[in-house]
Amino acid sequence: MIHGYYFFVLYCAVEKKERQVNKMYDVKSPKAEEFINHEEILETLAYAEANKHNAALIDEIIAKAKLRKGLSHREAAVLLVCDIEEKNAEIFALAEQIKNDFYGNRIVLFAPLYLSNYCVNGCVYCPYHAKNKHIARKKMTQEEIAREVIALQDMGHKRLALEAGEDPVNNPIEYILESIKTIYGIKHKNGAIRRVNVNIAATTVENYRKLHEAGIGTYILFQETYNKENYEQLHPTGPKHNYAYHTEAMDRAMQGGIDDVGLGVLYGLSTYRYEFTGLLMHAEHLEAVFGVGPHTISVPRICPADDIDPNSFSNAIDDDIFAKLVACIRISVPYTGMIVSTRESPKSRERVLHLGISQISGGSKTSVGGYAIPEAKEENSAQFELSDNRTLDEVIAWLIDLGYTPSFCTACYREGRTGDRFMALCKNMQIHNCCLPNALMTLQEYLEDYAAPETKAKGEKLIAKEISQIPNEKVRRICQERLEKIRQGERDFRF
Ligand code: SF4
Ligand code: SF4
Repeated sequence: MIHGYYFFVLYCAVEKKERQVNKMYDVKSPKAEEFINHEEILETLAYAEANKHNAALIDEIIAKAKLRKGLSHREAAVLLVCDIEEKNAEIFALAEQIKNDFYGNRIVLFAPLYLSNYCVNGCVYCPYHAKNKHIARKKMTQEEIAREVIALQDMGHKRLALEAGEDPVNNPIEYILESIKTIYGIKHKNGAIRRVNVNIAATTVENYRKLHEAGIGTYILFQETYNKENYEQLHPTGPKHNYAYHTEAMDRAMQGGIDDVGLGVLYGLSTYRYEFTGLLMHAEHLEAVFGVGPHTISVPRICPADDIDPNSFSNAIDDDIFAKLVACIRISVPYTGMIVSTRESPKSRERVLHLGISQISGGSKTSVGGYAIPEAKEENSAQFELSDNRTLDEVIAWLIDLGYTPSFCTACYREGRTGDRFMALCKNMQIHNCCLPNALMTLQEYLEDYAAPETKAKGEKLIAKEISQIPNEKVRRICQERLEKIRQGERDFRF
């Protein structure tokens, strides 16, 4: 009896303590450990596990997802672990439907541009980590960047993602800003880079303001892992070791005036269920505090690279789980763009394209430079090995063959449709009136200036078919006129 009472008191004390710990979860808190609260994630995972066969609840959540207003992290976590075959089929079908409703058959193209691989951090999954002595260290000069940008323009790219390691001496913010200026300044033949997204280390509000003033598109920063304990082990040295500073970076970016931010985790570093829940909690936090969720979510998976063996990461995920993740993210945040890179093979990319992906890279190099003059094998400055080595033109032709409309559109950011303005248009689906005509016009530019004859023929056929899909008659007529003007040599129209 005494023992029973003792355990009861102990149980109450533990439960009380847990409740107190859980009180730390606060979606609006500025503190990383409160808006990405470990206990809330554990409770969510336990709730999802307990309900993974609960058909009634799963039906309820799917019905809510059909409203296209998104799901909470708890609801989404249940769908992610659900293993009822017919419910999963419904989840995949809904993801496909939502992808189609919000993005149609369009896929936006971009290329990464690595400026420098000097890095002071010790990330154990990245070959740029400071201790790796057998990778070539490079930093491009402005002349080299100009040469690369000309090569990228000659491929047909209009949208870049800048990448650089964290190194205050070699890659200070001034270097990044100067590089952005160089990139926007180059107009080669009919080419132009019209949107520069930036993926650099977490920094200060002041530096984010400078990036905003330099006219960047999206600021992208992958969380890598939301699990703090794992995070600290995987980032043993360097400024990136600071979990809170890294996790709160998007808040500072928003405070610095950047309202388009891109989230992502590197799947394989921690359990995918934990990462998925953390990712959605991060999206909820940005929405709750700033009124605007992430502009994009990337879904990279750990892959081979110099000094890195993906098999040593026990949380690596297979293709089926990868597809389920993409589908569940798609229905949980329907208005957020989703990106898949050339880390994925053509086969894997094909599988997830229709489940929610709206942007892909094409013709990419992950070395520092390499577009203008391919890097010699012994130089090896690449961050990871590509699984898709096709040229941009091959990717364009492949997309068309699969029934997609490749797009080089950058209109929103140039028209000031960013942040909550963009999200409002996206949520009420008004953005549709812009995306399709812009996709067709930018594709027409590509066909005129860069496409191989076979791709051009396919593209022309596609444009002739897709133009009739523009619902607004006036927009359709204007688009038709502009397409003709593009064929005559004019460039850069947009809605
Ligand atoms: S992931 Fe980024 S911060 Fe880490 S070593 Fe690689 S380049 Fe440096
Ligand atoms: S119109 Fe805006 S949302 Fe649509 S493809 Fe262009 S940039 Fe993206």
